[in-house]
Amino acid sequence: SFGDFFAKRMKRSIEKNMQKSTMTEENIREALKEIRLTLLEADVNVEVAKELTQRIKEKALGGYINEGVNAQQQMVKLVHDELVTILGESLSPIDLTKKPTTILLVGLQGSGKTTTANKLANLLKKKEKKKPLLVGLDIYRPGAIDQLKELGAASGIPVFEQGTQDPRKTAKQALAFAEKNGHDLIIFDTAGRLQIDKPLMEELNDLRKITSPSETLLVVDGMSGQEIINVTNEFNKLLKLTGVIITKLDGDARGGATLSIRYLTNLPIKFIGEGEGPKALAAFYPKRMADRLLGMGDIATLYERAMENIDERSIQKTMTRMFMGQYDMEDLRNQMAQMAKMGSIGGLLKMIPGANKISEQQIADGQRKLAIFTILMDSMTLKERRDPRLLKALTRKQRIIKGSGRSEKEFNELITSFEKGKKQVIEMTKSVKSGRLPNLNA
Ligand code: GDP
Repeated sequence: SFGDFFAKRMKRSIEKNMQKSTMTEENIREALKEIRLTLLEADVNVEVAKELTQRIKEKALGGYINEGVNAQQQMVKLVHDELVTILGESLSPIDLTKKPTTILLVGLQGSGKTTTANKLANLLKKKEKKKPLLVGLDIYRPGAIDQLKELGAASGIPVFEQGTQDPRKTAKQALAFAEKNGHDLIIFDTAGRLQIDKPLMEELNDLRKITSPSETLLVVDGMSGQEIINVTNEFNKLLKLTGVIITKLDGDARGGATLSIRYLTNLPIKFIGEGEGPKALAAFYPKRMADRLLGMGDIATLYERAMENIDERSIQKTMTRMFMGQYDMEDLRNQMAQMAKMGSIGGLLKMIPGANKISEQQIADGQRKLAIFTILMDSMTLKERRDPRLLKALTRKQRIIKGSGRSEKEFNELITSFEKGKKQVIEMTKSVKSGRLPNLNA
């Protein structure tokens, strides 16, 4: 996934060259040579790569070095800090002060505007309790408006469109519609082209005047090459962008070009897209991105994603039940459903430092098991899940195996896993109640 390319090479450059316990001029130079190469290979702009390595060099040679701390760790810390500076220091949130908040999404065709419009509406609805309206203004790409309508319908977000009518007129009508219907967030999905052209820019500029946006965000494809810097400058010149959204960072894009945007144009990166689904958009934290690029894991994002997707009440209920010593298959099934909601296990595991040792095979096996167990439990009655002792009856067992189309071996595996889990839960509650630390290895 994204970041792997960087992370592997960065780690290697540092580990290989920083084997001595102290930094010397020589090993700093060697490490930086390789780091610079990695940056260029990942498509980071030449100027940015030069600046970054120059800064690291100055700090490393200029007494930043801390006696007693191992050279590798120091180098990682130096690279990390400079990456953060290049990426923009801190989170750059959406400006929500204006009522209603209006967001104009612009960008080249195929960059992900339509998909991102829907993702952004979902995110701000959930996080900021906004009542969004999506507006389809891409009248040139066939299917763009239908696509937006479908995405909106699937997420329960209304879409305003007037077919191929002049987008200026539609934008005005959308503003009136939003006011009448109490929408406090309006996201305009505009037309893109394969390349910048004058009529498009004029249309976008008119739309900017009409909608006086709180944010004008450029959507850029994470797989873009260096030309994206010029594209960004062109859009910015005319439309006074307020930020950038980078999409498709879930693939194996090297991403270096888009990650150079902040340094070269001074526009903040506000969000990153990491999938096609409506939830696959995350606020951009420079520090977390730097962690990821250095292969240090991304615990904060992992935590946030887990928290977002987990239905808190369901967790609380399970926790309370566990604490009362009640843990049955219905609880297990809920837990598994929550895990499935958190997204691909592989993606989640990659964010845990050290977890890259877990093989793709192991991840796939785990995921398969999760699916099989869920199918088996779905074939049980609620009564059986609530009282798994009933499952000892041969007729029930046979019925479930037949109904689920799974094997007896898999059924037995589920029972064993459940019993092991239940034992752990009981052990844990006992420990917590008696004030001892839970022994998770039990
Ligand atoms: P538009 O022409 O700018 O409106 O682009 P679309 O929103 O139609 O996106 C183009 C394609 O990219 C679609 O197939 C999207 O599903 C896909 N896409 C958009 N964002 C992402 C992303 O973050 N990850 C992945 N994997 N695909 C994306």
